[in-house]
Amino acid sequence: MSDNQHNDFSYLAANWAAMRERVDAACVGAGRAPAEVSILPVSKTFPAEAVRAAVALGLHRFGENKVQEIREKAGPLSDCAIDWVVIGHLQTNKAKDVARLATEVQSLDRWELADALHKRLQIEGRTLDVLVQVKTSPEESKSGLDPAELPAFLDALDDLPTLRVGGLMTMAVNSDDADAVRACFRQLRDLRDQAVARGRSLPRLSMGMSGDFAQAIAEGATEVRIGTAIFGRRT
Ligand SMILES: *Cc1c(COP(=O)(O)O)cnc(C)c1O
Repeated sequence: MSDNQHNDFSYLAANWAAMRERVDAACVGAGRAPAEVSILPVSKTFPAEAVRAAVALGLHRFGENKVQEIREKAGPLSDCAIDWVVIGHLQTNKAKDVARLATEVQSLDRWELADALHKRLQIEGRTLDVLVQVKTSPEESKSGLDPAELPAFLDALDDLPTLRVGGLMTMAVNSDDADAVRACFRQLRDLRDQAVARGRSLPRLSMGMSGDFAQAIAEGATEVRIGTAIFGRRT
């Protein structure tokens, strides 16, 4: 592959526009207003030049699942005012880099991590937007908090003022069974509704990816995380 081909990300404009149209159509199909659902572009495995091309389209928030990748891209893109969003499983020893580089973590799934982030954020004098990732799928490979532990976890987070909890995140089961996928999203919404009934404010539900965003929107997603359908297949 020539360098030229490799660095040509002009396809992003059409993919982005098509994705927004598909999300809008899913909203209309679900009887919701398109303005209720935002798209988080997931740039993982794509190079800094791809992100720069997306910035030129007016995007400024990007999801990554590895802190190391944020480190590698943040340098060459330091002129771009990007908000980096961590969406992948996070090791506690990465808290320092996250506190410096990320504006948001959607994969907060345990107390040890929350506590480590809070300590580093205090040192940096920063705050972080967070979503609590809940495990709604039986697959071993999926991380996330046990749903039964959510109420106590949210209560405990009240003691960590550097973490601003805005809602919940999940990954649905990887399955061709549309009902099984949708049940994961419904469970997340139910957990949110139960927390709201107890007086919490949790407006955000991050759920749905390239293959299942329409079902997530039907179940109340406020944000879908889209990689493949915008950036292309990961190699
Ligand atoms: C990679 C990833 C996505 C995007 O997946 P696509 O199927 O490429 O849209 C969304 N959420 C998480 C947590 C991911 O790791």
